[in-house]
Amino acid sequence: MKDPSQVALLGLDHTELTLLVKGLGEPGYRAKQLGDAVYRQRLELLDEISTLPQPFRFKLAEKDIRIGLPKIENRFVSQDGTVRYLIGFADGQSVETVWMPEGDGGEAGDGSEAGDGSEAGTEELLAEQNGRGYRQGQNPGRSTICISSQVGCAVDCQFCLTALLGVKRNLTAGEIVGQVCAVLKDQNVSPPEDRINLVFMGMGEPFLNYDNFIKAARLLVEEVGIAERRMTVSTAGIVPRIHDFGKEKIRPKLAISLNAPNDELRARIMPLNKKWNLEMLISAAREYPLRTREWVTFEYVLLGGVNDAPENAKEVADLLRGLRCKVNLIALNPGPGIDFTTPEAERVAAFQNVLRDAGTATFVRRPRGRDIYAACGQLKRTVEIATSPAL
Ligand code: SAH
Repeated sequence: MKDPSQVALLGLDHTELTLLVKGLGEPGYRAKQLGDAVYRQRLELLDEISTLPQPFRFKLAEKDIRIGLPKIENRFVSQDGTVRYLIGFADGQSVETVWMPEGDGGEAGDGSEAGDGSEAGTEELLAEQNGRGYRQGQNPGRSTICISSQVGCAVDCQFCLTALLGVKRNLTAGEIVGQVCAVLKDQNVSPPEDRINLVFMGMGEPFLNYDNFIKAARLLVEEVGIAERRMTVSTAGIVPRIHDFGKEKIRPKLAISLNAPNDELRARIMPLNKKWNLEMLISAAREYPLRTREWVTFEYVLLGGVNDAPENAKEVADLLRGLRCKVNLIALNPGPGIDFTTPEAERVAAFQNVLRDAGTATFVRRPRGRDIYAACGQLKRTVEIATSPAL
C-alpha cells in the first residue's frame, strides 16, 4: 500500500500544477508537460515522463509527489462485453467502474442521443477521415464509462446494493478522474478521437461529494478532453445541489432518480424523500436552466407490484407535465438482500406506453452486465470482498 500522505498529480488542474512547478523553481511550461503526462498520456510512473529532465523527476520523487493513477485490481467481463473493474486507491479503498463497449444503449446510459450520432461533432468526422481503426466488435464512439463518486453510499435506497455498504468515504477529484484514466488506458482508447460517453452513475451520490465531483468534471473536460455533452450526472435528489449545479459554467447533463410517482411511495423506497420531497425535487427540475437541445432525464426503477402499475405511470406523467424531460425506465436488477422483484417485460412496456401516450419521451434501458453484477444498483460485491479483513 502506498503512503496516503503522498501528493498525487492526478486531480490537480492547470493552475495548481503551475503553482507546484513554480514552487519547485521550474518554468511554468512544465505544468503543461505534467498535465499531458497525467491526463492525456495517462502514464503511471514519474520515470515514464520522458519530456521532463531527470533532475526534475528526482525533485518530484523527493517531495513524495506521484502520479496517482489508481490501480486496476480486478476485471470481470460480461457476456455482453461490459467490463466491471475493481479499482483500488492509495489507502487500500476501492470502487467499481464499468466499461460498456457499445455505449449508452445500456441502462447505465442516460438514454439520450449522445451515442446515436445525431450530435455528431467534428471529432467523429475527423476520426472517420483519418481512417482510424476500431477494434472488431467495437462500435466507434459508442462506449460509455460509468464512474463512482464515493466508496459506498449514504443514501439508503431500498432497492440498491451499493446502499448496503453504507458510505466509507468520498473520492477525491483525482480518484474520480483516475477511474476514467485507468479505464481509457486499459481499453487503449483516447478521447476526443474515440467518442467516449461518461456517466456519474456508479457507486455513491455525486451531489453528496459535490466539490470533488464538479472539479473532476472540469478536469475531464479541460484536461482529458471529454465534451460536457457526453457526460451525465445522476442524483438521487439532493435538491440544494441541483440548484447549485444549474449555476456551474462547466456541467454534465442532469439525470434525477425519480423512482416513484408520489411522496408516500418514494419515502418508502428512498428515505431521502423525507428531507427533499417530490414538490421540492420537481420544482428544482422545473427551475433548472437547460441549455439548447438539453433536457432533464428522470430514471425510474420499476419494482414489481410496488411502483410499476399503469396508474403509477399516469401519476408520473402528471408530475412531469410541461417539463422538458425524458424518462428512462429500468427494470429492477436483482441482488442478494434486495427484497423486490423484477417486473415482466410486458408490464414494463405497458408502463412505457402510458407515459408515451401522455406525451413523455420514455425509454427502457437494456440491462448491461447483469451476469457480472455490473448493472445499475449492483455495484457492491467485489468492493466488499476486497475491503473485508482477511480471514
Ligand atoms: N446516487 C445517484 C447515482 C447512482 S445512479 C443516483 O441515485 O442517481 C444509479 C441508478 O441506478 C439510479 O437511477 C438508481 O435509481 C438505479 N438503481 C439503483 N438500484 C437499482 C437496481 N437494483 N436495479 C435497477 N436500477 C437501480
